[in-house]
Amino acid sequence: MDISKVVRQHLEMEQSFSGFALKGKAGAPEPQQQQDNHVPSEAEAMADAEKVAELEKIAEEVHQCRKCDLGSIRTNAVPGEGNPNARIMFVGEGPGADEDAQGRPFVGRAGQLLDKVILAMGLKRSEVFIGNILKCRPPENRDPRADEIINCLPYLQRQIEIINPEIIVALGAHAAKTLLNTTKSIGQLRGQFHEYYSGIGRPPTKLMATYHTAYLLRNYSQENRRRVWEDMKKVLTELGLPIPEHQKG
Ligand code: URA
Repeated sequence: MDISKVVRQHLEMEQSFSGFALKGKAGAPEPQQQQDNHVPSEAEAMADAEKVAELEKIAEEVHQCRKCDLGSIRTNAVPGEGNPNARIMFVGEGPGADEDAQGRPFVGRAGQLLDKVILAMGLKRSEVFIGNILKCRPPENRDPRADEIINCLPYLQRQIEIINPEIIVALGAHAAKTLLNTTKSIGQLRGQFHEYYSGIGRPPTKLMATYHTAYLLRNYSQENRRRVWEDMKKVLTELGLPIPEHQKG
């Protein structure tokens, strides 16, 4: 590993995302503060409890899952985590070594960059939901196989149905192609809203495809960072959320 490259990337990452986010925080009120003033009715509290119970049930099934070989070689399954009422759901490809070790999504270097993107958007990790196409780590981080995706996808589909986010952000080619059922490249898909269909009779959910943060780390150009940020600005605008001052340009 080229340490100086890693250090340089880290410093650039600080400037591109978190430094700006800290400035933004001091200014405009956070979406969370606005939400905190809302006192849930009894029906809302019950609906929330049901959602949590359903998500826990899925997580339990994922922990028991042996539908494919990945189930027998994992250290931990990674069902996904976050706010059951999230307006935004981030979907990645599958756990890496750090996620496999901890049983939590996006906790390695790609996860730290995702945290910075979320902060730069003026949001907190606790306000969004973060999941993956695959719930178990493929060996040596190889690409997910079609049979693994077919076995695993229903867990994510059920999570999406329960959380019912306003926007899904598909991180990288595997998430975008799987959720949109397309063979188009991430370069063709990113930057525009697409429609994710969760079932007959249910309205489609808007899906924004963007580069995976692991790709961004490997290809850490200003242009790629700008592209991801442009995509996230579209997400904020679609949700009627402010674009933090520092990032408007
Ligand atoms: N990459 C992913 O796609 N998902 C994770 O959870 C971590 C890294």
